[in-house]
Amino acid sequence: MENLKLAAKTDRQRTVINVRGVEVGRDFVVIAGPCSVESESQTIETAMAVKAAGGDLLRGGAFKPRTSPYAFQGLGLQGLKILAKAREETGLPIVTEVIDPRDVTWVAEFADILQIGTRNMQNYALLKEVGRVGKPILLKRGMYSTLSEWLNCAEYILSEGNPDVILCERGIRTFETYTRNTLDLSAVPAIKELSHLPIIIDPTHSTGRISLIAPMSMASVAAGADGLIIEVHNNPSEALCDADQALTPDLFADLMKRLRPLQGFLKSVQN
Ligand code: PEP
Ligand code: MN
Repeated sequence: MENLKLAAKTDRQRTVINVRGVEVGRDFVVIAGPCSVESESQTIETAMAVKAAGGDLLRGGAFKPRTSPYAFQGLGLQGLKILAKAREETGLPIVTEVIDPRDVTWVAEFADILQIGTRNMQNYALLKEVGRVGKPILLKRGMYSTLSEWLNCAEYILSEGNPDVILCERGIRTFETYTRNTLDLSAVPAIKELSHLPIIIDPTHSTGRISLIAPMSMASVAAGADGLIIEVHNNPSEALCDADQALTPDLFADLMKRLRPLQGFLKSVQN
């Protein structure tokens, strides 16, 4: 693949990113939490459930890139403060999205990992800005993007001096309408062939269907992914964003119980 000076696979070891003791790229990591931070009780209750089920990091959006300008846009600074409180209470590091280059520096003071969403994958000003902060970046694949375009966006971040990029496949647009997007699981082994960067799967936004999240999570482990990012809400029917696709704490706990033995089994057959 052309022009990948820093993102391309080399003889060097694969990238491992330490996030408050969680080693992304070495451990199989599960990031879970609500689509958006809506209130302190919603976020903290969900965070406790994620922690109890064995999740490794907490996700939650304080800035939401919504299709409609009239939809809930997130709580902004108040949401970040709530996330920091949830981290304090559970010990879970936090992953949150940044959508505006002007916000990167101060959002990075709260976040442990900054997320770049699918709609902003090719926002080069934003990529350059997050390339200059000292926090790892979760770079979601653009919904219309090739692997080459995606890796070039990672290259933008790396070339600004930030070596800590985690790729996230979250589904691409195809002619299929039954699922919200089409999960391209082949991206996992393909990215492993092309790059040293860790890659995780988002089974929530890729399928948009509760019933498909567990099977595709299991398939992600089998494909060799470095982790998952899953939406969980303490009361999905009242969620202000992506209500139809959030797992309840019980469903999430059930999935975690099935995932962990599978990881052990796969390790034993891969080595
Ligand atoms: C999200 O993670 O809540 C999100 C908006 O994801 P994506 O950018 O993949 O649509
Ligand atoms: Mn969402």
